[in-house]
Amino acid sequence: MECLKLSFAALSLAAVSAFAGPITTVPWNGHPGAASFTFDDGLHSQTNNLTFLDNMPDVTVTFFVCTNTMGFGSNTQPHLNYAKKGHEIGNHTAAHKNLTQNADLNSEISGAASKLRGMGLEATSLATPYCAQNQTVKNAINKEHFISRGCGGSGLTGWDTEPDWMQIDSHYWQQNGSTVSAFKSSADQAASQSKWHVQLNHGVGADWDVISAADIKTLIEYAVSKKLWVASFSTVGAYLRAHFTIDKAAATNTANGFTVKWTSPHAHMPKSVPLRVKIQGAQGKTVSQKGKEVKPNSDGTYTIEFMALELEVSGEALSSSSSKQVKSSSSSVVLSSSSKLAESSSSAPSSSSMQSSSSSETNGIAPRIAFESGAVMVHCQVFDANGQLMMSKNVMAGSASEAWNNVKAGLMNGVYFMRYGKIDGRNTQIIQVRK
Ligand SMILES: [Zn+2]
Repeated sequence: MECLKLSFAALSLAAVSAFAGPITTVPWNGHPGAASFTFDDGLHSQTNNLTFLDNMPDVTVTFFVCTNTMGFGSNTQPHLNYAKKGHEIGNHTAAHKNLTQNADLNSEISGAASKLRGMGLEATSLATPYCAQNQTVKNAINKEHFISRGCGGSGLTGWDTEPDWMQIDSHYWQQNGSTVSAFKSSADQAASQSKWHVQLNHGVGADWDVISAADIKTLIEYAVSKKLWVASFSTVGAYLRAHFTIDKAAATNTANGFTVKWTSPHAHMPKSVPLRVKIQGAQGKTVSQKGKEVKPNSDGTYTIEFMALELEVSGEALSSSSSKQVKSSSSSVVLSSSSKLAESSSSAPSSSSMQSSSSSETNGIAPRIAFESGAVMVHCQVFDANGQLMMSKNVMAGSASEAWNNVKAGLMNGVYFMRYGKIDGRNTQIIQVRK
C-alpha cells in the first residue's frame, strides 16, 4: 500500500489543475463531418452559375471577394444578393496583392473589412490571395477575423486537435488536373474520419481555374448525400472554434443546479453561433440562457447559443432518498461485491460529509465535500490499483455512491480508487470502490 499512498499523494498535488466541464459539443452539428465550398475573387461567373443553390435551402457557401478589383470590385450587387439568402461574404483583401511581399497589410485587410462593413457585411473570415501567408500576415488577419483560409494540402481539418485558425487548409480545384472523383473522395474522407472538407474554387463555368456548373453541383449534392454538414466557412469554423472553448468551461454549483460561463475565443466571432451540445446533469432540470429556457432536442441534446457566453441548469435537486451516503470511518470504506458502495456499519453519527480513506497525506489537503445541498456536479477520477487513471468525468450526484454509479460504466470488474470533489478542484476525497 505504500506505493499507492505515494502515488496518490503525488496525484493530489495535481488535483487543482483544469478539467473538462459538463458541456460537450456534438461534433459537426450532429453530422458525420462537414464540407464548406468557397469561391474566391468575387467573380460574376459564380453568381451567374450557382443559381441551383436556390433549390438547396440548407446549403450555404462562402464567397471571398476583393473590394477593389475583379467582379465584386466593379459590381457588388450579384454577390450581395447571395448574402441576402444566407451565403457568406468573406474578405479576400482590397486588391488581391501577395500579402507576404511588402503589401500594405492595413489597407489590404482592415481596409477591405471596413469597406465590407460599410455595405452591412461583417466579414468574420478571410482567404489570403495566392494562399500566401507568414506570421506577420497572420497577426494582421487575426486583428480583424477569427479565421483565415489557406490552401495547398488535402483540405481536411479534424475535430479533436485545435488547428491554426489563421491557416485552415483547403483543397484547391484547379482547371487542369482536378477531377470530380478526387473531390468526392475528400467528401468521403470527411464523412468517414469526422473531418471538415474545405474546397477552394474560382470561376464557375467561366473566368479562371474553372469548375463547370455541373461539376460543382455534383460535388455539393454529393456532400449532402454523404450527410455532411454543408455550410459556409465561418459557420463551420465558428462551431469548431466554439467547441474548443465550451468543452473546457467549468461549472459552478448553485443552490439547485449549476452555471457555466465562458469567454468568446475571438473578438470577431459571428454574432450568433448555435451549438449542439450534451449537458451532463441537465436531465430533468431546466436549461436556460440569459433567463430564456432552452428545450432539449428529441435526442436529448441542446442547441444553445454559444455567444450568450453562459448557461444555467436549475431545478429540483435529484432525490437523495435512494442514494446512500458514505459515512466517515477511520478504516477503508467497506465494499460490497455488488456495484453499490456499502455503508460502513460503524458509521459516524449524523455526518453526511465524506472522508478520505486512502492516506493521511490526502486527508491533510482535502477537506470534506458537503453533499447536504443535494445533487451537485462532482468531478470524478477513477484509478486502478496501480494508480493508473482509468476515467475522468463530471457527474451530477447526491452522494459518493451515486457518483460512482454514474462513472463506473465501461470499467472492468475489479477494485478501483475514485477521487472526487467539487469541479473547481477543491474538497477532493479518495475512496476505494469495487465494480
Ligand atoms: Zn484569389
